[in-house]
Amino acid sequence: MKCPCGKRICRVTSDNSYFTKHCSHYCWIYYQNPEAYPDIHFNSDHPNLKNHLRRPIIKTNCEMCGDVFSLSHSLKDGNKIFCSRLCSTNLQSCKKKALRDFAILKLIKVHGELGADDIVKLHQNPQRALTTAMVAQILKCNGYITRNIIQLVDNPKGPRIYRYNTNIDAPLGQIIAKKLNYRET
Ligand SMILES: [Zn+2]
Ligand SMILES: [Zn+2]
Repeated sequence: MKCPCGKRICRVTSDNSYFTKHCSHYCWIYYQNPEAYPDIHFNSDHPNLKNHLRRPIIKTNCEMCGDVFSLSHSLKDGNKIFCSRLCSTNLQSCKKKALRDFAILKLIKVHGELGADDIVKLHQNPQRALTTAMVAQILKCNGYITRNIIQLVDNPKGPRIYRYNTNIDAPLGQIIAKKLNYRET
């Protein structure tokens, strides 16, 4: 499968863990509204580079500290989710198995709505494979449903579908680390 930018989507060989229809975090943001990110003319006297067009840098927010950082159109620098190694370490150490919880919540956040078996299929870590029962248990027992981070989609006849609460703008890492609560009282 190819990204709209033309690159092949290969989540195994890149750091793309969440964006199944795009090559990178960069392209996932870019193709939501390409007009917001016009190409940059690369001005150079070198004949090969004349009129060369380049994709602009896109700014996004770190999923741990919330600070703005830059993504470029590349498989390596376009797939960052955190602004720094420190932020990814802080997430890892904030609670037991925080990365596993993060992976499940981030998949639901990126896709909007997912069933437990979609999450199992999309999960990228073969060493720590998930089962549908584990997904259901993690979301329930770790309080993500009680705290209204994840909502259940009304689907009486079918399997349980999870939806990310779109009213939340806090970074996902903070939601996990500080057990933020969005339950209306
Ligand atoms: Zn792409
Ligand atoms: Zn950060």
